[in-house]
Amino acid sequence: MAYSAEVIVVGGGPAGSTLAGYLAEQDVDVLVLDKEFFPRSKPCAGGVTSRALAALGFSLPETIVREKCYTFRAVYGDTVREASFEEPYVFTVDRKELDTFLLKRARGLGAKVQQGEKVITVESTRSGIVVQTETASYRAPLVVGADGIPSRVARLVGHQGPVNAAACLCADVPWPEENSDRFHGTLETHWGLSRWGYAWVFPKKDHLSIGLGTWDRGQQNLKALWTSFVQSQGLPLVKAQGHLIPEGGKTKNQVTDNLLLVGDAAGFADPLTGEGLYYAFMSAQIAAETILALKKQGLAYTGNNLARYEKTCWQLFGQDLRCAMRLNKIAKRYPKLWQQAFRVPVDWFARALQVVQGKASYRQMYYWTLPRLPLLWAYTYAPTNYMR
Ligand SMILES: Cc1cc2nc3c(=O)[nH]c(=O)nc-3n(C[C@H](O)[C@H](O)[C@H](O)COP(=O)(O)OP(=O)(O)OC[C@H]3O[C@@H](n4cnc5c(N)ncnc54)[C@H](O)[C@@H]3O)c2cc1C
Repeated sequence: MAYSAEVIVVGGGPAGSTLAGYLAEQDVDVLVLDKEFFPRSKPCAGGVTSRALAALGFSLPETIVREKCYTFRAVYGDTVREASFEEPYVFTVDRKELDTFLLKRARGLGAKVQQGEKVITVESTRSGIVVQTETASYRAPLVVGADGIPSRVARLVGHQGPVNAAACLCADVPWPEENSDRFHGTLETHWGLSRWGYAWVFPKKDHLSIGLGTWDRGQQNLKALWTSFVQSQGLPLVKAQGHLIPEGGKTKNQVTDNLLLVGDAAGFADPLTGEGLYYAFMSAQIAAETILALKKQGLAYTGNNLARYEKTCWQLFGQDLRCAMRLNKIAKRYPKLWQQAFRVPVDWFARALQVVQGKASYRQMYYWTLPRLPLLWAYTYAPTNYMR
């Protein structure tokens, strides 16, 4: 059988193009198929945390960085909490620019890239995988699903049925003339608008990226929440784009014979903040290491051999995501309790920021939070609650 490439990556977003870059750098014959022509837009707040940058393994050119954010602001009703750092803890980017840069970089390293190639079916045959697009048919011994959420490739790996995900609405708005300094260098989040979720205003030098998302889908009218949030901020009511963020927390079922999933397609995202780029970069790196190791040892891409990918993902971030997921469940069940955590005089707020910076793990935060839950409970539900 004539193969089109040794590895076909379906999806040229951050996970797919980063993986393709790693493989091409080591002379692996890799082909990326993406349904879009780049530059293409992608609904995203565009926050790249310092831990995501570290996971990327190379620095982003200054032209890609829209703003370096030193301040995090959380707004809950009339309470505002702020934390500032000496070093930028999040960089904002325009996803059109970031994704185009990463894909071009992969191509520069030797990856083949086919744009405008929408994958329709991915079929497992005895001698490899056949990937059928709207116009052509490709074959490879290994196919990587990097096609975001919901993923076609993931269905083959057994990810079926309804996708557990947060629903989001987001849009770009012009930089406001009034209060224009409020947003520079600051990530602003708003809590308590939806049952379990938050809204954000991220600065992008010449415009703002705004949005809101909830992990408690189905119970809320997102459009109505959007209107009231945007109007409450005095920003123009523009049409929002909807998209999903995987709920995260799973590292099983990411491989089968000749198939592997990375990034959103694998369901890797933070179930408390929605951060996905860190996991896209981490999973791409682990996938590349797994593929290169199997190649070096002359081993086939069987599910058993690829299972080391799942295992490493579990060790490096999976167990941590599970703790984040447990916190998500508490927040979903007791949303008021969670939102209160931003207001009470325990340093929960600071701890949450340490996780974003990569200085602490969710595991640490979870075990720190558990014994403090009664205190949060008292603040939230006691009749003499000083917040009311
Ligand atoms: C509203 C919103 C805000 C977010 N904000 C942040 C944030 O601030 N920071 C952060 O870290 N994360 C954020 N995320 C999450 C982040 O966007 C994702 O985790 C990240 O994009 C995952 O990258 P990926 O490469 O796995 O998938 P994607 O970026 O979704 O890329 C998938 C690629 O696959 C292609 N594709 C899809 N289907 C096919 C097909 N059938 N055939 C061929 N190609 C296909 C698509 O065109 C796309 O290029 C946000 C998500 C949303 C929805």
